[in-house]
Amino acid sequence: MARFVTTRTLTIAAGLVLVLTAAAPARAQVPWEQLQAGFPRTAAESNGFAAPTRHLEMWDYLRALRGATTEMRLGSYGRTREGRELPYAIFSRPLVTEPWEAWALGRPIVVLAANVHGGERTFREGLMILMRDLATPGTDANALLDQVTILVAPQLNPDGFEASERGQRGNAWGIDLNRDYVKLEHPSIADFVGNIISEWRPHVVIDAHNGGSRPYNLVYQCPSHYDTMRELTLLCDDEIFPEINEALAEEGYRSWYYQRGDEEEWNVGGFQARIGRNYVGFTNSIGMLFEAPVQGLEEGARAGYIGFLTVLEFAAEQAERVMGLVDRARTETIEMGAEPRGDIAVTMEYGPEDYPADYLLVRGGRGGSPEDTIQVTGARFMKKPVATGFRPRPWAYILPREAEDAVAMLLRHGITVERLQAPVSLLVDAYTVAGVTYEQAYNHAAALRIQVGGVTATEQEFPVGTYVVPTAQYLGRLVAHMLEPETDDNVVYWNTMDAWIPRERGVVPIYKLMTPVALDSRVVVAP
Ligand SMILES: [Zn+2]
Repeated sequence: MARFVTTRTLTIAAGLVLVLTAAAPARAQVPWEQLQAGFPRTAAESNGFAAPTRHLEMWDYLRALRGATTEMRLGSYGRTREGRELPYAIFSRPLVTEPWEAWALGRPIVVLAANVHGGERTFREGLMILMRDLATPGTDANALLDQVTILVAPQLNPDGFEASERGQRGNAWGIDLNRDYVKLEHPSIADFVGNIISEWRPHVVIDAHNGGSRPYNLVYQCPSHYDTMRELTLLCDDEIFPEINEALAEEGYRSWYYQRGDEEEWNVGGFQARIGRNYVGFTNSIGMLFEAPVQGLEEGARAGYIGFLTVLEFAAEQAERVMGLVDRARTETIEMGAEPRGDIAVTMEYGPEDYPADYLLVRGGRGGSPEDTIQVTGARFMKKPVATGFRPRPWAYILPREAEDAVAMLLRHGITVERLQAPVSLLVDAYTVAGVTYEQAYNHAAALRIQVGGVTATEQEFPVGTYVVPTAQYLGRLVAHMLEPETDDNVVYWNTMDAWIPRERGVVPIYKLMTPVALDSRVVVAP
């Protein structure tokens, strides 16, 4: 049931439509912190937010900022396809350089990232200004350096940013990097995961985009796959997001969930593991999406700034809870594999949450028609992960020794893989192949989907060199998702095992060892 309250938000004179729809609603001057002597401005600040800060302008700014403070470490975690340097900065007091130093401080580690889609630039501007305030003595942001270790990666996709005046979504090859988190084929994301996420093991990662629905200034979402730990998402929904709402409202901004709705229901963003926010959930951390709906650049930058700062403040105030929850997610994941229990959700869909959604919708505004903002109350909130297919969790997955491409993909995540040092006969479960279909997905012209017929339990001989992947590891959720052949993001779908998948009859050559067995095996060293 939906109830409507109509309020005219803008009266637009004919002939001025383009100008007015592009302009932000009238708003008091954005209350940025005072610039202190010696600290730099971003290019966007210098040009009055007429244009975003370009890649090399960003590097100039970051270097100038580093030159103005002792409370920031500046480095590069990798290079893009076109050779651009990917910057990161560390902020903490005392200033740390290495992950283990940060762990020794015993504080939450928060990663703030932006611009994985090259044309999506708004929150990156707010993030760069926040970096300055983190380094500026006397600011609210700087005070947090005693309580939180902060890593900032302000530009994940500079090639996409620089590809054209407006930028492009994909990288230099046109690949959507925010769908590469499981494959890790492209250097920008492989290095972000390898050198930032896997190295630092942050408790919270925020990934900032442009998208979502007006009239909101910031929209958000946390992991939404069924197989990420539910409590991580509930912490966002029940506690962090309400604080963001409150902080934004203090400056007259609005916030709500990504992505879109109508008078009947609100729909959120996708649940696939290949999306950064969900991937971070699969690594047992809080993955948070921020999106900037259409608005002015400065206004949006400020909304993002407040959002980032609010999450840092939450992490500082609730440090024990944030770290405790992430630790519990990691521990439980290991335990679920050690004495294998529970099911893996191999397919899922969204269902309605148990509570309704109230939100605003912008209507009209096309072809000179007036724009209305309507209030919807009591709508369906299509956000609840509902599993539609389960498979039991094994103690380990076993892959043929030829499955080197699949194993390479696992190793890029830091997943522990072992190899048999002696032949062994094991009782394993295997899926029979009922059919194989192909579909197009990003740069995969024939991504491969298996239709599973049944499950057979067989005693099988495995030779020296066979790969064994235990589920009792903190990336165990990711192990299961990548090695169950029916999920959306597994090594079979992404073509790493095409040569061993029978087209008809036969079994999927990923075997499941359902109970613990002592094995003569050794950990594979990642290249
Ligand atoms: Zn995006």
